[in-house]
Amino acid sequence: MKMFFTMLLVKPIIFIMNLLGFSATNLPGNICLKIFPDILAHFKMPKYVIFVTGTNGKTLSAITISHIFREKGMTVVNNNEGSNLDSGLISKLIKNSTFTGKIKADAAVLEVDEDATAKMCNILKPSHLMITNIYRDSISRNAHPEFVLRKLRKVPGDVCLVLNGDDALSGMLGTDENRKIFYTVDKAPDRDDKCENLICDIRTCPVCHMPIKYEYIQFHHIGKFHCEHCGFEMPEGDVQAGDIDYEKRTFVLREKDGKTTEFPFSTGNLYEVYNNTAIAALCLDLGFDGKFISDSIKSLSSTGGRYKEDVANDTAIISMVGKSQNPISCSQSFAKAKMIDGKKVIIIAINDRVYGGHDHNEDTSWFYDTDFEFLVSDDVLQYIVVGHRMYDVALRLVMAGADEDKILLTPEYDLSAAKMVDYDAVKGGSILYFFEVYFREWSVKMKEALLAEAKAHEKH
Ligand SMILES: [Zn+2]
Repeated sequence: MKMFFTMLLVKPIIFIMNLLGFSATNLPGNICLKIFPDILAHFKMPKYVIFVTGTNGKTLSAITISHIFREKGMTVVNNNEGSNLDSGLISKLIKNSTFTGKIKADAAVLEVDEDATAKMCNILKPSHLMITNIYRDSISRNAHPEFVLRKLRKVPGDVCLVLNGDDALSGMLGTDENRKIFYTVDKAPDRDDKCENLICDIRTCPVCHMPIKYEYIQFHHIGKFHCEHCGFEMPEGDVQAGDIDYEKRTFVLREKDGKTTEFPFSTGNLYEVYNNTAIAALCLDLGFDGKFISDSIKSLSSTGGRYKEDVANDTAIISMVGKSQNPISCSQSFAKAKMIDGKKVIIIAINDRVYGGHDHNEDTSWFYDTDFEFLVSDDVLQYIVVGHRMYDVALRLVMAGADEDKILLTPEYDLSAAKMVDYDAVKGGSILYFFEVYFREWSVKMKEALLAEAKAHEKH
C-alpha cells in the first residue's frame, strides 16, 4: 500500500517535471527516500537484472548491453543519463513501473556507482555484475582504488561476476561463492612490457607483495603479469580477444570452446576492445550467439562516443571528452591525440569542476596523474588553454615539455579560443579540443565556432 501511495505522489511529479522540460533524474528519487526510504527493496524486478560498474566505461557499456537486448526484441530499462546513485535509480525505476512497483520491461540494465554497487546488489539482486576496471578517480569522492575495492568486496555471493582478467585490482573481486567469468585481451600489436602512462597502480604482487614481472602492459596497470616469487598470476580468460587490427578496427573473440567471431571497435581505441569483450562475455553467458552480439554492437550508432570528427578548410576538427577529476579518462583522450599525425592545434578546457559542473573543489592534483606528455610534440602549433585553471594547465604543459611560446590563455568559457586558432598554419592538419563531460553544451558551441571560422578561411 505504501508503494501505491508513493507512486500516486511521485509519478505526477515526474510527469509535470518532464512537461516543463526537466529530466527528473534525481528529485523524485530524493522525495521517495524521504517518505519511503527502503522503496528499492519493494520493486518487482524483471527476469533479467544486470549491473555494470567500474571507474571508466560503465555508461557506454550499459547502453550497449541494452541495445543488444533490444535487438533481441526485449524491452529494457536503462539509466543511460548516468543517474547511478540510489536517488537516480529510484527515479528511473518509478518512471518505468506500475503503481504496484512492477517494472514494465523484460530487463533492467543498470549502471551503478562503484561506491553504491554492493548495497544495490543486496537490494535489487542482479544475476550478473559486470566490472569494467578500477582506477584512480576523483580524490574527493573516491579517495584511492583500495577504498573503492573495499566497498566492492561486500558484493553478495549469489551474483555472477564478469571480471577483467587483465586488471588485478577489479579482477580479484568476489569470493569462492561467486560464479566468475573472466575476460582478457591479448597483447595489442603496439604494446610491450613498459608502461607508457604516468600511473601504473600494480607494481607488486597482490599476494606476496614482491615486485612482479609484466609480460605486457596495454595501458596503466592493465595487462598480463606473473610473480616470480610465489607464482601468482591472474586466471586465464573464459572469453578472450585477440588479433587486434587497428586499421580495420576489428578484433577476434575466442570462446572457451574455441569458437571465434570477428568483433568491431569503432573508435580504434584499445579501451573499447576491453569493453566490447566484457559485454560479449556477459551476453554469451546469457545464451546469446557471438555473431548476433557482434552484429548488434556494429549496428549501434557511435554518435554517443567520445571521438567526433568534422572537416573544414581541409582541417579535421576533433572533439574529445574526458571525465573531470579522473586522470585515467583524460589520459585516454590524450592517448588518442598522440595517435593523430600531422600539424595540430590543441585546445584544452579542463579545470577543477565536480558534481555536475556546478561546484569546484580547487583540487588540481589529478593534472599530475594525467598524461599531458601525450600532447607534446613538435607538430603542435598552438596550445590554447581555456578556463579559470588556465595557469595550472599551462604549468602542467610546460612540465610535460611543451614550448611555452606556443601556449595561449583565455579565462572564460566563451568562444574566444576559436578566434585564437591560426587556421592558415594548421590547414591540412587537425584542431583537437578537449573538454570535460560537464561542459558538453560549451563544446557544441565551440565546435560550431571552430567550423564557422575554419570555413571563413576557406574563402581566403
Ligand atoms: Zn607473489
